[in-house]
Amino acid sequence: TRTLVLDDVTKQFDTGTVALEDVTLQVAAGEFVSVVGPSGCGKSTLLRLASGLDDVTAGGIEVNAHSTSYVFQEPTLLEWRSALRNVEIVGELRGRGKADRRRAAREALDLVGLTGFEKQHPRQLSGGMRMRVSIARALVAEPDLALFDEPFGALDEITRLHLQTELQRLFALKQFAGLFITHSVSEAVYLSTRVIVMSGRPGRVVADIPVPWSYPRP
Ligand code: ADP
Ligand code: ADP
Repeated sequence: TRTLVLDDVTKQFDTGTVALEDVTLQVAAGEFVSVVGPSGCGKSTLLRLASGLDDVTAGGIEVNAHSTSYVFQEPTLLEWRSALRNVEIVGELRGRGKADRRRAAREALDLVGLTGFEKQHPRQLSGGMRMRVSIARALVAEPDLALFDEPFGALDEITRLHLQTELQRLFALKQFAGLFITHSVSEAVYLSTRVIVMSGRPGRVVADIPVPWSYPRP
């Protein structure tokens, strides 16, 4: 299955800025693809198109996913809600019963190592832990496609290393298709099965490189 297909996509904003030109790429089911490139080459625009938050100007886009999750650099957590209730919100929005959605939220928090922190509010948690809550909220949606917009860019190096290892484990476990934006070539190579390099203004795909030494998937 091709979870995400962009075919010759061009994106021009109302301001006249052309952010993407002739971008063609695919993400297959179970594939974790990174996109690296300098600021302004259209990486975030690419993710917004993939998520359906924005429309292409020309070209084709196809998203074959029942559910898509988005993880931002700044975790968009609700400050007045506990970690558990931040994750539970996904079940609430889907109209699931309280016991059911609470169990799912606890499981997701456990997967990211936050058992024992369910009742803490975001401001009581470290940056790494807030990112973990954000990832748990993405996972609890059981996404077929997960989109990451430079999620670890603002974290200190040690926390980032922990989260990278964590995400790799979660990806192997859940096998969602992933599209991961980063400035870091080493992060891209470490995490993904394929690295797409973008460059220029408007942004174009200048390389699409399989990572042959990525970890075997179960
Ligand atoms: P990156 O994520 O690689 O830094 P972006 O996708 O954020 O790049 O931006 C690509 C280009 O599109 C930039 O020139 C940026 O200024 C422009 N851009 C992004 N979003 C908008 C918008 N909503 N309206 C107008 N221009 C935008
Ligand atoms: P990482 O996310 O890289 O594992 P963190 O800096 O987020 O590192 O946290 C390291 C550990 O410190 C956590 O696993 C937790 O046990 C503890 N910790 C961090 N912040 C808090 C906090 N606000 N309250 C209690 N324990 C905390």
